[in-house]
Amino acid sequence: MLNTMKALEKSHPEQGLWMVDAPVPEIGPDDVLIRVNKTGICGTDIHIWEWDDWAQRTVPAPLITGHEFAGEIVELGRNVTDLQIGQRCSGEGHLIGHHSRQSRAGKFHLDPETRGIGVNEQGAFAEYLRLPAFNVVTLPDDVPDDIGAILDPLGNAVHTALSFDLVGEDVLITGAGPIGIMAAAVARHVGARHVVITDINPARLDLAARVADVTPVNVAQQDLREVMGQLRMTEGFDVGLEMSGNQQALDQMIEALVMGGRVALLGVPPGKSPVDWSRIVFKAITIKGVYGREIFETWYKMIAMLQNGLNVADVITHRFPVADFAEGFAAMRSGQSGKVVLNWA
Ligand code: ZN
Repeated sequence: MLNTMKALEKSHPEQGLWMVDAPVPEIGPDDVLIRVNKTGICGTDIHIWEWDDWAQRTVPAPLITGHEFAGEIVELGRNVTDLQIGQRCSGEGHLIGHHSRQSRAGKFHLDPETRGIGVNEQGAFAEYLRLPAFNVVTLPDDVPDDIGAILDPLGNAVHTALSFDLVGEDVLITGAGPIGIMAAAVARHVGARHVVITDINPARLDLAARVADVTPVNVAQQDLREVMGQLRMTEGFDVGLEMSGNQQALDQMIEALVMGGRVALLGVPPGKSPVDWSRIVFKAITIKGVYGREIFETWYKMIAMLQNGLNVADVITHRFPVADFAEGFAAMRSGQSGKVVLNWA
């Protein structure tokens, strides 16, 4: 094997990413080396590209970015006995410790020591990725690499959507980005009655309607209450999934919920934002913050759902060979794309 590889790196503390020759990672006894075939560009990667305040505070440049990937195991650490060379895989990009109370209770996704590949540690935008064997999720033959490369954000969608029982429920999703759209597909798949998704971006609402059997609502032009009337919803939504981080969207969601409604929050508001807590108290609303994916229950559930008919393939709107990565990032930064997948093979 060669000892250098191509990688997309945040080489300089300024806007952009750079294609560099980097050393192929050396693996430890409990790691595997993965040859990366496909990667997804995440909103997080856009923050890193832009080098905004969050990225400057969080990301140690130089760093290989990227955390959404599918590939193939090409080398095993000497303690790794339960995986094989040649196995196709994706993997959990959150590297957890095993000492916190939450980890020792098996709630790995709640470990406060979590470090992220492509954010705090060398990432997946590279020909080769080192990953602890613990983090590997093998892919069945019927899950192609394109989908394998977006299991990380699909996992966010599944984790959020499965926060509450959706069977027979009316579900409001605010924010029609790729994760909101995939959450809508999941809500429909698991048996929600009405699934309404709101945004103010017409391209994203069109994409939502193509990917999932949902009612898209442009809240800049349409009145959500009117749409609820057309759907003959008399009381309100049972469950809200907040995917936008937008203050007005959350306010509208709280107003549109039934008494005793439940809300899962994945969207991250910029800074602090005012919340009408008395409204939440008097409506007896339950709120849950969602971080990452449940390790590995979300992975199990999403792969099982993909195998029994959940179809999110159309959320991928752009595919580029990695040499054209700048076009991929431009598509993402335009705000008009779904998921963008880069091909490393
Ligand atoms: Zn991501």
